[in-house]
Amino acid sequence: MERPQAKGWCPTTLVPMQSGDGLIVRIKPAFGRLTSDQAKAVADLARLYGNGFLDITSRANIQIRGVDEAALPSLIAALQGHDLASTDEARDRLNLILAPFTDETMIGYHCAKRLYEATVSLPELPAKFGFAIDTGEKRIIANASADIRIETDQSGALIIRCDGCDTGFQTSLDRMIGDIQKVLAWYLAQKQEGARLARMAQYAHAQKVPKDFRLITPNETQDDVRVGARKDAGYDILGVPFGQCHADSLSQLAMHTKQIEVTVNRCLVVDTGAGAKTDFITKPDDGRLAVIACPGAPACASATMATRNLAEELASKITASAGLSCDKTYHISGCTKGCAAPRATDICIIGDGAHYAIIENGCAWEPPSITSLSSDDVLKTVK
Ligand code: SF4
Repeated sequence: MERPQAKGWCPTTLVPMQSGDGLIVRIKPAFGRLTSDQAKAVADLARLYGNGFLDITSRANIQIRGVDEAALPSLIAALQGHDLASTDEARDRLNLILAPFTDETMIGYHCAKRLYEATVSLPELPAKFGFAIDTGEKRIIANASADIRIETDQSGALIIRCDGCDTGFQTSLDRMIGDIQKVLAWYLAQKQEGARLARMAQYAHAQKVPKDFRLITPNETQDDVRVGARKDAGYDILGVPFGQCHADSLSQLAMHTKQIEVTVNRCLVVDTGAGAKTDFITKPDDGRLAVIACPGAPACASATMATRNLAEELASKITASAGLSCDKTYHISGCTKGCAAPRATDICIIGDGAHYAIIENGCAWEPPSITSLSSDDVLKTVK
């Protein structure tokens, strides 16, 4: 079954999205990083202008929730003052995920810098269109949502790969923007009259990506962005439970680390030994890591059921190994749109009117195999 049309756009800072608890204002930190002062500013602004809750999204962005329309201009000005938002609309729209641990000496950092600088010269793209830069010896964000990927091959040469294709084509730091523009020209030419442009992976699956863009195999992947301490490397990776934390937790954390990298898998990378981590996930066997949950009701206006309490209870059962497995993936979605998990999970629980329903090995928009469940029924049913 096709995924139902979502809103077709994602919130940005300049163009927020209305939700059940007010406006959602999305911050896209440059290079995925916040200095300690910026993180404290985000927390202060979330308390001052929002409802104090922050989302860490699957695209490594931060969202301030519950913003009142009247407060929006002041919030935007404050974010711009802290270098957390642009005044330029094209830069505000740009979706870019830089692989974590990419420091300023690395080629990936310079690719990101060039892309930020070139944003105004790029054509207008669909709001969900994005770039991922992952140029280490092993790719570590290959599963992150993106349409164009900048990677390296086994010889260390830069390549551009269209999402969904196994191979890409060689480029260089100096040629990269021109080469991206060639891919974008082809991509934009795919638009059918009256239809929305599909994501790049859909063109790849339909075998429509030109052969010239499919020549070179990228480096292997490695699942390296996992919760845990990396004392040897000087950082810890923390999980954000169900992708949401309170501003107080972020400001406490910011007091103990020089920088916070916001990254994939709804994780934060902080200095080794940073204190104030109790509100975050620090152990790789924590059951909350197996559960993905969208905000649900009442936070989201489209939700028919709440998600967070059920997610907590499910996660507790997983942590206690009470018949549930940490190896499985569980997705709880307040409605059939499935915003939090665009791919199939082992168990997907959806709000279906006044009840929950379950889809096994599928996505939120697929037909459920079990319906009309209360939350207690879900906890008894799910294995
Ligand atoms: S999936 Fe969740 S966040 Fe998305 S629209 Fe439905 S209830 Fe809202």
